[in-house]
Amino acid sequence: MWWVDLKAALGQRINVEGIVSSMAVLVKEQHLALPHVAVRDIRYIDWAELHKRGFKGVVFDKDNTITVPYTLTLWGPLGLSIEQCKSVFGNDLAVFSNSAGLYEYDHDGSKARALEKAIGIKVIRHRVKKPAGTAEEIEKHFGCKSSELIMVGDRPFTDVVYGNRNGFLTY
Ligand SMILES: [Mg+2]
Repeated sequence: MWWVDLKAALGQRINVEGIVSSMAVLVKEQHLALPHVAVRDIRYIDWAELHKRGFKGVVFDKDNTITVPYTLTLWGPLGLSIEQCKSVFGNDLAVFSNSAGLYEYDHDGSKARALEKAIGIKVIRHRVKKPAGTAEEIEKHFGCKSSELIMVGDRPFTDVVYGNRNGFLTY
């Protein structure tokens, strides 16, 4: 009965059900926000070892993963790691970002093209913002299952939840 009384007392001032339901999502999905492996930045990832273990390709988030936000060039100190990654995985690399390549914020694909030119890595075009959406565009690009791919990103509730929901190895 206390619940009914509480709801009546709060009236319409706040949306109790709305708050409870978003908290439930947060709690239910919390385990998905933990990456399989946590590293400081991509320089701590052993690309050759991952390749040896059978992984076929690498998908990078953009902002705060390989670039400074709002820039379309690689963050300098990561240059060597990206080169090592390219020498191991060849062309089986891609960027999957909520800024460059997302139709909503990059409707003509100009950011995606500029980034591709600057870093030499394909930027996947997609319509649904992470963490929603499936791995369809990514699997099509790589020609393999997401479980054979590595998703590298900085945001637990965006990149990591997306990666874990869709079966990637997450960093
Ligand atoms: Mg990011």
